[in-house]
Amino acid sequence: MQNRDSFYINGKWVPASGKNRIEVINASTEEVMATIPDGDENDANAAVAAARAAFDGWSMTTPAARSDFLRKIQEGLKARSDELAKIIAGEVGMPLKLSAMIQVGSPVANFGIYAKLANAFQWQEVTGNSLVVREPVGVVVCITPWNYPLHQIAAKVAAALAAGCTVVLKPSEVAPLNAFVLAEVIDSVGLPAGVFNLVTGTGPVIGEALVRHPGVDMISFTGSTRAGKRISEVAAASVKRVALELGGKSASIILDDADLPTAVKGTVNACFLNSGQTCSAHTRMLVPQSRYEEVAKLAVEAAKNFAVGDPFGGSAKLGPLVSAAQRERVRNYIRKGIEEGAELLCGGPDAPEGLPKGYYVKPTVFGRVKPDSTIAQEEIFGPVLSIITYRDEDDAVKIANGTLYGLAGGVWSGSDEHAMQVARRMRTGQVDINGGAFNLGAPFGGYKQSGRGREMGPYGLEEFLEYKSLQFRPDATALTANAAH
Ligand code: NAD
Repeated sequence: MQNRDSFYINGKWVPASGKNRIEVINASTEEVMATIPDGDENDANAAVAAARAAFDGWSMTTPAARSDFLRKIQEGLKARSDELAKIIAGEVGMPLKLSAMIQVGSPVANFGIYAKLANAFQWQEVTGNSLVVREPVGVVVCITPWNYPLHQIAAKVAAALAAGCTVVLKPSEVAPLNAFVLAEVIDSVGLPAGVFNLVTGTGPVIGEALVRHPGVDMISFTGSTRAGKRISEVAAASVKRVALELGGKSASIILDDADLPTAVKGTVNACFLNSGQTCSAHTRMLVPQSRYEEVAKLAVEAAKNFAVGDPFGGSAKLGPLVSAAQRERVRNYIRKGIEEGAELLCGGPDAPEGLPKGYYVKPTVFGRVKPDSTIAQEEIFGPVLSIITYRDEDDAVKIANGTLYGLAGGVWSGSDEHAMQVARRMRTGQVDINGGAFNLGAPFGGYKQSGRGREMGPYGLEEFLEYKSLQFRPDATALTANAAH
């Protein structure tokens, strides 16, 4: 794997201002995959200056022209899919096949979705004596995490470019290599200089320099609630728009009339995907008290299907966690669960057998977890499922809503209608009804401390737009004749 020495700023690869480097570690071998520059305030300033200078031109392009660029970026990423899947399987640890399907498939699709939307979106409309036009918010800084690194980048960058914004991307320093490939693709399609810029480094240094910068109009952030709060504080000084996609502690409510084997298996899958490092993971399984024994047995069986192993090995469903720090954090939560008296049904804090290298954690299921205990309240971000029992439906909804978070969830029932009724009572941004699949066109985002704003589809495009009202006199009909589009 190639070391990276430069940032992509103003349409060129330019050396970083400082000499410091960050090592990118392969999650399954624990070896250094590559190094990247540890950017500083000078790099932030250069990237913002480029994005600022490019804004006037890019914001005036037609949606059709922007659509053409997005389509070319989609094609460029698609052509490098195999390479990207390998990079992300190395950086993050997700098994290669899944990595190709999800970590690469979804960003490729997203660039296509925004290419279409740029053309289909209603950019202006008439209301009373006003022509209301939608305009790009300006220079956008995108700060992204490591768990679905390219997916989270695409959700922001494709939408922001479609909107007519210019972009500075600061990807996660833990899984940044995929972002360099994206920058190469963007360079190869001839996007005007300064429209997209890439810098890397740590959150507190280059991240905060970007958030503070007076030349930036909006921060679009995905990551931890802790960092989201800090970013909101720093951005408040200059009243920037801040969109936040943060953590979660989502509940899967299994109702008494659900098909238990399907519901339990579906919940375990929704918890363990990407070794549990998914913000919308269904980490709390809520089940009727009277069905606990049945459910516990089924959950252990389902967890056993998650073969732990080398992401490049072929048969593993559960790769390593992303880093040594993340593994330690998850093991500490497992120890805490045991200390607080939950029943350890399978897994545990010890390393899985036969895997001396790599940040592996055993798929772990806890039973009879108290709703207010640490493992039922805090985001663990590892393959750890908590089974919680409830008395009746009201109790289930109360427990589901009883955390600081509100990102996702699920309801399982013999009747879709019944499940929908319960889903409507959940204070959360997404609910899967009887295992309904993830939809790239539906709004994604959180209630409460899971964030502010929505990504994906037209809802994600709106995040990057301002409204402008142009008032006209009654005889100015010619001005509004084409207003529908
Ligand atoms: P993190 O908050 O540590 O880092 C995310 C990004 O923010 C990184 O690029 C980091 O460098 C940067 N950053 C950190 N502190 C910063 C600061 N003070 N100023 C500016 N930038 C800063 O999160 P992570 O560990 O990379 O990712 C895991 C977290 O992301 C989990 O909590 C997960 O739930 C959340 N997440 C949320 C969503 C969502 O859509 N809601 C999606 C994926 C992940």
